[in-house]
Amino acid sequence: RVFVTALSFSKYSKEPKEYLEKHGVEIFWNPLGRPMKEEELIIELLKVSPIHGIIVGTDPITRKVIESLPDLKVIAKHGVGVDNIDLKAAKERGIIVTNAPGSNNEAVADLTWALILAAARQVPKADQTTRQGRWDRFVGYEIYGKTIGIIGTGQIGLAVARRAKGFGMRILGYDLVQNEIAIKELGVIYVSLEELLKESDVVTVHVPLNEKTQHMIGKKELELMKKTAILVNTSRGEVIDEEALYEALKNNRIFAAGLDVFSQEPPVNSPLLKLENVVLTPHIGAYTVEANYRMGMAAAKSIVQVFNG
Ligand code: NAD
Repeated sequence: RVFVTALSFSKYSKEPKEYLEKHGVEIFWNPLGRPMKEEELIIELLKVSPIHGIIVGTDPITRKVIESLPDLKVIAKHGVGVDNIDLKAAKERGIIVTNAPGSNNEAVADLTWALILAAARQVPKADQTTRQGRWDRFVGYEIYGKTIGIIGTGQIGLAVARRAKGFGMRILGYDLVQNEIAIKELGVIYVSLEELLKESDVVTVHVPLNEKTQHMIGKKELELMKKTAILVNTSRGEVIDEEALYEALKNNRIFAAGLDVFSQEPPVNSPLLKLENVVLTPHIGAYTVEANYRMGMAAAKSIVQVFNG
């Protein structure tokens, strides 16, 4: 018996759901039609007890949620980032946590580039003003041939770098580990975070959220960036200090930002919503038909694998 909180699980292709059913799994769906809160998870999961597996999106699988599920064997993340799952609590109970690395690299890299270009040329503002019957032909910046700084050269960071090559860019990288493929095939030059921030025209963030990366980009880091630079975040909202980013954008300390992720989602009361020089998307990095299929199949297969021992 598997409970699915991830609203987009098997949404654009039937195969992941059918795979589970074919293997005798009974599925219970998130009844709220939106991401669930801790208390809601506990209440809804109790209604369909016993539950042996969860397929989770961004909902908080906290210690309390885990403790309320005595029969739980597996938590399958419908995606990559597992920062919403209490891994320690799961480990203590011997619950297996799986994710789908590599399933959405291309999707997130595409969206990262959509945000880079949209921020550089203020595409949303141009669209809005054109619809309003105005003809405001404001200027932006070119991306071709410039310097991009990639913070976190893992799977998504490298997919972003591959696209940057097509834009004739000098590619700077910052990571705890230097990737040989990045250096040899993509020409990534590893530098310190400080140097990356100082030299890049585009800074894009692709690290996981943890104690070390929380607020990794704050006031001090933003002050190192070029006044003409663009900052893009498709990793996790908390990696950037949003208050500091708001101040930097409001005071034109940097040119623009593109954000797919926020410290609170949706960012209802965020002052960022009032700024013109920020392009916002509702955490849709992985929302392509192709990535949805890959994430769904990876989650379904890992559930069946665990159930089969
Ligand atoms: P990955 O594990 O392949 O790469 C992460 C990289 O960050 C690794 O190379 C790692 O060494 C590096 N890193 C970790 N901590 C660091 C630190 N303190 N300083 C510098 N580098 C550090 O992961 P990925 O598949 O590339 O995904 C990256 C993140 O993107 C995920 O953790 C997730 O939070 C986010 N993501 C967002 C979406 C979305 O919808 N917007 C979709 C998928 C993933």
